[in-house]
Amino acid sequence: YGQSGTGSTSENFKVVVRIRPPLPRELRGTGLRAYQCTTAVEPGERNVILSENLPAVVSAQGVTVADPGALYNTYRFTFDCVYDQHCPQERVYRQSAQQVVLSILQGYNAAIIAYGQTGTGKTFTMEGAMEGPDRGIIPRTVEDIFTFIVNDPDPSSKYLVRSSYLQIYNEVVSDLLKPERSSLAIREDRRRGVFVEGLSEWVVRSPAEVYQLMQRGQSLRATGATKLNEVSSRSHAVCVVIVEKCSNNGQGEDAEGAGRGGPDGASMQSIKVGKLNLVDLAGSERVHVTGAVGRRLEESKKINASLSALGNVIAALTDRRERVHIPYRDSKLTRLLEDSLGGNCRTTMIATIAPSLESFQESLSTLKFANRAK
Ligand code: ADP
Ligand code: MG
Repeated sequence: YGQSGTGSTSENFKVVVRIRPPLPRELRGTGLRAYQCTTAVEPGERNVILSENLPAVVSAQGVTVADPGALYNTYRFTFDCVYDQHCPQERVYRQSAQQVVLSILQGYNAAIIAYGQTGTGKTFTMEGAMEGPDRGIIPRTVEDIFTFIVNDPDPSSKYLVRSSYLQIYNEVVSDLLKPERSSLAIREDRRRGVFVEGLSEWVVRSPAEVYQLMQRGQSLRATGATKLNEVSSRSHAVCVVIVEKCSNNGQGEDAEGAGRGGPDGASMQSIKVGKLNLVDLAGSERVHVTGAVGRRLEESKKINASLSALGNVIAALTDRRERVHIPYRDSKLTRLLEDSLGGNCRTTMIATIAPSLESFQESLSTLKFANRAK
């Protein structure tokens, strides 16, 4: 990836789009209206077209036949990659997550963030199934980390893998693995970086142990029925994986500068700590769509505020001017991700959209949000 050119983000920050397949409900159509697809991926997988009149823009062979900009309610956006509805989980992981995951083993901090309207595949992408080809990013991440550890040829290497699982709901941080721990504070110190005070950390020795934790946490995620007549995710869920590597190497090279030299210099111990945040954001749909009132309206306002805070932080980070103020303090979410976004961190944002006409406005706002993050 180059540093310039249309749609190309920096080496460290990637923005990709994933379109999910139409659901049976959408294929049946609504009332007199048949299912209508609004999305097309151009060959090369860099450009996505969103149109209320797709046949006028893209031929049946997937070739763009008209200028998208010239047609009413037709848009073209460019990203690091666009995955169409047939793209398997394995390829999404390999192309958009694996480098980010492996970077934490070198001592970097990193984040993979799923953004999109409820029902567009955020949880499918991040979690998916725990077994089989529909395994999502989290199970594949955990497997990769343990595979890497098992295959480390250096006999002096020792690893410690810890995991936490938290939720941000109504700007309140709670521990999904110790439900009695709620209203947790986000703090920062030199040794630990940004951390959640009182959040339980679980030492994990195998992928299976991580799945057990995930399953326990999932049952506690706050959900509520919306007018969309589906159970909607109203909270941000963050799975944190911290890998600590301790090894004896003469060079003492390490990314975090935490190397401890032995007194005689004969054996240097280096410690690398990398942290990965796997983020399944609350649904990005606008308040008016779900017809929210009362408590639900307050909830929606908080969700909107924290998602726009995230958008503002990412926009500031990708702003190429010098010394742009980064407004991390505007929300719990951005505060939590402060040491995992920007700088030396590796980040991928996966924006998920639905292909159907009923989701057109939400897909457009998701693509605009993702476009601003480049
Ligand atoms: P979200 O977490 O964004 O609300 P979900 O991940 O729950 O959305 O997805 C909504 C529905 O669509 C689920 O039934 C899910 O299995 C299905 N789905 C989402 N993305 C895909 C995909 N890429 N392939 C197949 N099914 C998908
Ligand atoms: Mg979900």
